Amino acid sequence: MKALILEVTSAVLGAAREFLVAQGFVELLPVILAPVTDPLRTTPDRAIVSAYGQDWYLTRSMIFHKQAAVRVCPKIFSFSPNVRLEPPERANTRRHLFEFVQLDLEVREAKREEIMALGERLFLYIVQEIRREFGQELAKLGRELPEYPRPFPRVTWQEAYHEFGEDFELALSHRHSTPVWVIDFPIDQREFYDREDLHRPGILVDMDLLYPEGYGEALSGGEREHLPERIRTRIIRQGLDPVAYTSLLKLAEEGLPPSAGFGIGIERLVRFLLGLQDVRETRLFPRVPGVAAAL
Ligand code: ASP
Ligand code: MG
Repeated sequence: MKALILEVTSAVLGAAREFLVAQGFVELLPVILAPVTDPLRTTPDRAIVSAYGQDWYLTRSMIFHKQAAVRVCPKIFSFSPNVRLEPPERANTRRHLFEFVQLDLEVREAKREEIMALGERLFLYIVQEIRREFGQELAKLGRELPEYPRPFPRVTWQEAYHEFGEDFELALSHRHSTPVWVIDFPIDQREFYDREDLHRPGILVDMDLLYPEGYGEALSGGEREHLPERIRTRIIRQGLDPVAYTSLLKLAEEGLPPSAGFGIGIERLVRFLLGLQDVRETRLFPRVPGVAAAL
């Protein structure tokens, strides 16, 4: 089984790369140490390496590097190792690793709508390729990957919250037999880089995609704040210190283009494709929050 999991993971990377390169994307090598990284307020612990007289964060996501990179190439992606020191209580959610790999992509001048369409087509291409290459193995496991129709259904955060409360993600995911989008998160539910819709103040032009059958979140993304004053306002609103984001603000003052993109976790995708119980099964050397590792 372990070999199959690794083969499927490898095929997922290959299919994603093939799909994106055919769409004109350029692959960036990942950034692992950075002086500034994703704030991720719900995961407060930081992994830091001190060297050369400064602190370097282990990248929690490549969000700011993506925004900077689309100044150079209009469509970029990276298989980016992310370190997020999740609390040990998340050891048994079946969905959390504190080191994982995210396929992170960004498109200059893009709107949410086209990024959602891209996300659907990328996901369906990967499903198709895995079905084609591993049909027999999937059948033996009793795993069925149907043809999911596009576009995937959408619900707003408000609707989801109203119906299911705070923990709507798993409830929605369980209810659906096809992937489902959650759009329009309220401003205080997300990080400062998701763009606020100025026609609907307090609402973000962003989205999550949830897997069906209770597998939970697949990806997060959205349009980005790219203007320095907007970024500063959002940083302050989140109770963060703008000084910590000086380099990002400086970059924005020099000029960051508008962009949109998303990040999709590879291990969660493999878990979903193979119908595995726990995301830790996808890795040979899983990093489970609070759990010691031998290698
Ligand atoms: N930075 C987001 C995350 O890691 C993904 C994105 O918005 O592109 O969840
Ligand atoms: Mg997310």
